[in-house]
Amino acid sequence: MSAAHIIARSEHTLSRSQISENALKVLYRLKNAGFEAYLVGGSVRDLLLGRKPKDFDVATDATPEQVRQLFRNCRLIGRRFRLAHVHFGPEIIEVATFRGQHQGEQGDERQIVNGMIVRDNVYGTLEEDAWRRDFRVNSLYYNIRDFSVVDLVGGMEDLRQRVLRLIGDPETRYREDPVRMLRAIRFAAKLDFELAPETAAPLHELGHLLEGVPPARLFEEMLKLFMSGHGVKTLKLMREFRLCSYLFPQTEECLEHDHDSVFAHFIERVLENTDQRIAEDKPVTPMFLLASFLWQPVQQLRARFIDRGMSKSQALMAAADSVLSGQAQRVAVPRRFQTAVKEVWQMQDRLENRQPKRSLRLVQHPRFRAGYDFLLLRSQVGDADPGLAHWWDALYHASESERDKLVESLGQGKRPRRRRRRRAKKSD
Ligand code: ATP
Ligand code: MG
Repeated sequence: MSAAHIIARSEHTLSRSQISENALKVLYRLKNAGFEAYLVGGSVRDLLLGRKPKDFDVATDATPEQVRQLFRNCRLIGRRFRLAHVHFGPEIIEVATFRGQHQGEQGDERQIVNGMIVRDNVYGTLEEDAWRRDFRVNSLYYNIRDFSVVDLVGGMEDLRQRVLRLIGDPETRYREDPVRMLRAIRFAAKLDFELAPETAAPLHELGHLLEGVPPARLFEEMLKLFMSGHGVKTLKLMREFRLCSYLFPQTEECLEHDHDSVFAHFIERVLENTDQRIAEDKPVTPMFLLASFLWQPVQQLRARFIDRGMSKSQALMAAADSVLSGQAQRVAVPRRFQTAVKEVWQMQDRLENRQPKRSLRLVQHPRFRAGYDFLLLRSQVGDADPGLAHWWDALYHASESERDKLVESLGQGKRPRRRRRRRAKKSD
């Protein structure tokens, strides 16, 4: 390796004290067993930018089997890419063996179908490994032997310029793995980097390649796109580069015809809210995002079913099934989330048609909180009555006697019209 590519410890800012203890343990044990061991990828990139890494990935010349022999707490995973996961309680250190370009001894270790890499288990050297990574800023290696950073592809230069640039010919790299298009958007949003022009240009044309990506992988990627704290910017970029229709075709269709912008505002509020919760370390769930992204599609289909003579609740269930199964063809949404999404939608009707006895039961419902949060966000964009959201909030926080009063204000089991109900509440 040429010295020109090695940045000595005194020339960079990445310090061992910023690396997780478990990652250090893995690096040292590999080194002490005579293997090469580097921190690589997002953790090196983020530390050099002064950001806190999400996780720590290690690259080594040890094979997955050799890694397993060094760590008791190790599991080998993946078929497409065979990797070792070293477990330390909740923290997992991912250890990948250097990948090479040449054909494997058995000949079937690297498989390319229609330009797409479907299997890549040919091992190689660090030099080879560096060139098959996606972006230049993701291909920096921190060497545990002398604490230097190895930069074979120009990643340091891109970090300085705050630009995201694919390694190699962009179109070929996107065809090899179309998920790199989503990764480009995700990192641009997360790091607040510009996409290099030649990295950005093919995005407009190649979105359709995402149709060849297994829906289960797109679900994983969707979580990273919208649940990493930069959802608002991510959606903006996804739409700008015309990629949204490949993950959320029904949502994109509604957004394109959203003349009063209520739906666009609603989704933006939901993403703002999610981003803020993540910034505050509060829990978030993909169920809520899915319920929001598909809210307008389900409402529109429901209206059509009602026109055809279905009852309101029948129409909701039929529309929900249709919209969710359409969505699952693109992004595999696990069943439990689909069920929860339906419950949040059903809850909207129950929250809007308040009935005395049922109201008290509803606040005990396990999905009440999510349903109420959903109603609140709807009310903030003019899609629901803000007074309604306040009333439920009051009921939720009320003591038992206060609850009875609030419920009595609804009348004796009759369903008064909304205007009368509100007047009644004020005179309490
Ligand atoms: P994050 O902060 O989201 O963890 P990351 O850059 O670490 O970002 P990972 O998905 O954890 O992303 O991947 C680790 C590294 O593996 C990347 O930095 C990159 O070098 C390489 N990599 C991951 N996915 C791909 C891909 N689809 N094509 C090429 N290289 C990839
Ligand atoms: Mg990572």
